[in-house]
Amino acid sequence: MSEPADSIAAEQSWRTRMSRSTPPRPVDIEAVFRALTAHRRTATRLHPRPGVPRAEDVGTVLTPQPEPPVAGRVECVPTPCVLHPEQVVEHQYLGLLGDDLQEQIAEWEESLLGDEDADDTEDGPDSTAPASYASYAEYEAATAAARAAEPDEIDYMSDLSLAPGWKVGGYASWHLTDPAPVDCPRCATSMPPLLTVDTGECDGGSRSWLPLEDDADDPGVIDPVGTYLGRGQMRIHICPTDPTHPHRLTFQ
Ligand SMILES: [Zn+2]
Repeated sequence: MSEPADSIAAEQSWRTRMSRSTPPRPVDIEAVFRALTAHRRTATRLHPRPGVPRAEDVGTVLTPQPEPPVAGRVECVPTPCVLHPEQVVEHQYLGLLGDDLQEQIAEWEESLLGDEDADDTEDGPDSTAPASYASYAEYEAATAAARAAEPDEIDYMSDLSLAPGWKVGGYASWHLTDPAPVDCPRCATSMPPLLTVDTGECDGGSRSWLPLEDDADDPGVIDPVGTYLGRGQMRIHICPTDPTHPHRLTFQ
């Protein structure tokens, strides 16, 4: 089956605009837990970065421009950004996997910690010797250096299931509340998130998702859009059987 020429051109144009790449996940989690292949979904990370879109990248402009009569708060208004979309694979939020699978993942994570503890004991007695510091700044520098030298702990929630930041598709995180069903008010079908609006692109727990091209110390990387909705994250869910059914919002 041949693709129409214009769809190939669109695909090429889309690819040239992708200038971010997520580092490979630290573990191929589907190789460890085959059952997770049934709980995977692609997400398109948008990787917004401050900037003004080029005129040629903007498609047909709607007239009149839809605008809400009032935005309410400054945190509801995004900073102009350029997007660098990229597809990643996500896995279902831990609390929504079956009990058996959740237990197996917890045991596997514990076994990883066990390996790290074993490594620590090989450092010798010096690593546990009490140290004294002339000033708080010295103490702070020493603990920061020790933290940087530690291998990052890998866990399912932070590194292997859901990508942080603005994204289309994928799964919803329920890290602040217990998972809640999001069903279509008209036909009762489960509604996946269409768009996730996030207050940050990366935090201490999700550093492994930081694009290779970016620097974690750059505020334009960590909070490029400047929005703060809900307690940091808003999702727009749509009905997969009929997009004209009313959408729903969830917050974390
Ligand atoms: Zn519906």
